Amino acid sequence: MSKREFQTEVNQLLQLIVHSLYSHPEIFLRELISNSSDALDKLRHLTLVDEAYKPLSFNPRIDLELDDETKTLTIADTGIGMNEEDLVSHLGTIARSGTKNFLSQLSGDARRDSNLIGQFGVGFYSAFMVADRIEVLSRKAGEEQAWRWVSDGQTGFDIEPAERAAAGTTVLLHFNEEGKHYANSWRLQEIVKKYSNHIAFPIFLTYEKSDWNVEEKRSINTRTTEQVNLASALWRRPKSEITEEGYKELYKSITGDSEDPLFWFHTKAEGSLEYTTLFYVPSKAPLDLYQAEYKAGVKLYVKRVFILDDTRELLPQYLRFIRGIIDSEDLPLNVSREILQQNRVLTSIRMSSVKKILSELKNISASLPEQYLKFIAEYNRPLKEGLYSDFANRETLLELIRFKSTTVVGLTSLADVKSRMKEGQKSIYYITGGAESLLRTSPLLEIYRKKDLEVLVLDDDFDEIVFSGIDKYGDIDLKAVNKSSTSEDLKGEAGPDKAEGMKPLIDKLKATLGDRVKDVRVSVRLADSPSCIVSDEEEPSIQMQQMLRAMGQKEIPAPKPTLEINPDHEIVKKLLARIDDAVVEDASWLLLDQALLMEGVQLQDPVAFVQRLNRILNLSI
Ligand code: ADP
Ligand code: MG
Repeated sequence: MSKREFQTEVNQLLQLIVHSLYSHPEIFLRELISNSSDALDKLRHLTLVDEAYKPLSFNPRIDLELDDETKTLTIADTGIGMNEEDLVSHLGTIARSGTKNFLSQLSGDARRDSNLIGQFGVGFYSAFMVADRIEVLSRKAGEEQAWRWVSDGQTGFDIEPAERAAAGTTVLLHFNEEGKHYANSWRLQEIVKKYSNHIAFPIFLTYEKSDWNVEEKRSINTRTTEQVNLASALWRRPKSEITEEGYKELYKSITGDSEDPLFWFHTKAEGSLEYTTLFYVPSKAPLDLYQAEYKAGVKLYVKRVFILDDTRELLPQYLRFIRGIIDSEDLPLNVSREILQQNRVLTSIRMSSVKKILSELKNISASLPEQYLKFIAEYNRPLKEGLYSDFANRETLLELIRFKSTTVVGLTSLADVKSRMKEGQKSIYYITGGAESLLRTSPLLEIYRKKDLEVLVLDDDFDEIVFSGIDKYGDIDLKAVNKSSTSEDLKGEAGPDKAEGMKPLIDKLKATLGDRVKDVRVSVRLADSPSCIVSDEEEPSIQMQQMLRAMGQKEIPAPKPTLEINPDHEIVKKLLARIDDAVVEDASWLLLDQALLMEGVQLQDPVAFVQRLNRILNLSI
């Protein structure tokens, strides 16, 4: 017998599992059954594609056996099994970075943390919530030698050679105090039905069944074995036969989520390609949604045989929150991760799946607007990511995304914005580049307010990047209000004579501000403020440039805005009238600096700003 130690992370995880995750200990059974089911999937796959495994008989089943007397439960499968090396690496270390991530995300809030367990598949170790000793007897398919792994979940584990009649794995749990609640056949059946009803393999439970014997007038115990789960691939049954509960249960069993999904879309495609898809939208965004190492949530099956679930090829990245199943009739069983990338069948399934998901969402947005808002609260942002990665579906995505706006409370769709457009209005406008409060008070919006034109308030940090690439919604132009070119909708405000009259001041401003500005001109967009800054059509906004520099892109030169002044503003008029006054120089800088401040841009020289302000204050007191 050899004594081994757990990897540090395993110890850490075990500590957490035993001490802080007591809210749903019952999930231990789901985890062990899903491991058995995975092991059966793997063996079935091998017997189908690998010559060496073909002669092996495959009799897939999972057997639970309860011993009330000794308070033990065994979970046995006829799956792929593990040899010595597998036992050490699978049940002694944590290989996946996802799980390491999991450890860093634990909050101490037991409810949340036990949901996390499912999401990251910390699986096997959860059994130590209910057991103080676990024995794993396993024999790998194609090998003669079996091995026994034993651990108390604290001091490491032992491994020794053992015997097992056939390939597969038996996990023996010695229940602890907490676990004794599960030494009960009713309870076990209930848990299996709840979590594992749709596992594709039969799950049997062997237990002491007590039946009332009428003649002897007493109950008699008989050792009984019964199948507990449905064991059918639910998604392959006709929709009409599947209840709402059935869909929800399947969702929970494949995701480990304890909440119901928001929506699901079940499609059976027949024609040149035959496949079934069942997609779910979780009611809460997955916790790893914004992590580079997110776990993909769609499982690939071929003819009901599980193939893989950890590939990101099945749906585009922006739909990574979708959970569910793709089951194809046309793919080869031995399809590999590498092949998937250029596989025509899969490309085609993927394309129609995206269309299907988006069109279903669109239907929901019309028929269940309140439900749709729940969806938007979680997933508006990933949909926006789709705008710059999925050109083919851009129009649909634009219709699905919701926006904040200056005209309505809450969120609005582009279709609604369009319906509110003024007679003769040419474009739809939006403002980007900062927090919502900053955007809503920007001087750039003054003219739109005055003319009663709606402006979309895009306050997500990546909105500028996304929307700068989108010029049109249908045949309507989409325009940023902070870009220098002005739209026809604003024309007619500052006539050429106004600009002409301002020339002396403009020249003065240019001379004073020098290369700190790109240009100075008369504005058509201001009502109450004396000045504002804008950017050129092709260049990133000042805020974006500031952000890029903050992110370390040193080659980005200091932002050089175009300054616009309001010819109707009192201050501007006075400055024009006293163009040769000494105060005009300080005032010129203040016109620029206040415009920058209003856009949330940091001043290059705050000290000079304050000195100028004080000089002017001094004059006015
Ligand atoms: P996960 O299932 O997410 O990989 P687990 O902690 O549940 O994580 O299991 C760890 C690994 O142990 C599995 O990936 C698998 O390789 C192995 N394993 C666990 N249970 C079994 C089993 N019944 N048969 C074969 N291998 C198993
Ligand atoms: Mg597992």
